[in-house]
Order: sequence, then structure tokens, then C-alpha cells
Amino acid sequence: MEPDVKAPNIKLERRKIFSCCICKLNFPYDSYGPKCHTSTMAFLEDAYMIIDPFTTCSHSICVGGKCASCFRAVCADSKCSLFFSKRFCAECCRKNCDMFPEILLGEIRQMRH
Ligand SMILES: [Zn+2]
Ligand SMILES: [Zn+2]
Repeated sequence: MEPDVKAPNIKLERRKIFSCCICKLNFPYDSYGPKCHTSTMAFLEDAYMIIDPFTTCSHSICVGGKCASCFRAVCADSKCSLFFSKRFCAECCRKNCDMFPEILLGEIRQMRH
């Protein structure tokens, strides 16, 4: 009479994992694509994408990318990375905050350390 401690059936076997260099969380992703295009939007970066299995035409969700400055993986959370023509992690945003327009500095200050 053992209690059922099995994890719920999550089908992650084909999913790969990247971990964000800022929040250290692991994120599953399906593909890391150069310049992914979806029906609704075009991503101008190489991004970690999740393919939404519930839509017929492959609709993908961007879960993160690589920092253009330090090349580490970073998630798409606004506290971890900022997209300003390229994606930058919170750390590089702080280090290089003089290259961002003033309007973004408030956002950068809210980001994780
Ligand atoms: Zn993160
Ligand atoms: Zn960086």
C-alpha cells in the first residue's frame, strides 16, 4: 500500500533545458532558432522557443535568448533581460547602462542583480 508519489505525466522527453544566467531557473524549450518567424510576429534574435502543441500552424513562444554582450542564456522575463535591438541580460544592462536611452534606465534599475 504505497502512496502514489509518481510525478504527473509531463511529456518533456523531447524538450531541452536552458538555465537563465540571472534568475538561475531552468526553462524547457523546443528549439533554439536563428531568427524565428511566427504568423503573428518575427523575432529578430536567435531565441529559445517553445512550440505550442495546441495550435495547428506551429505557433511558438519565446522563452529566452542569448545576451548579445556576454553570450550567456537568459530568460525573457523583464527582470532578467531587456530587448533593445538585441537581447541583454540584467548584468550587462547595468554594466553598459550608458549605451541605453534614458527611458530604459528606470526599467534597468528594476531588474534582478
Ligand atoms: Zn531569468
Ligand atoms: Zn550579459
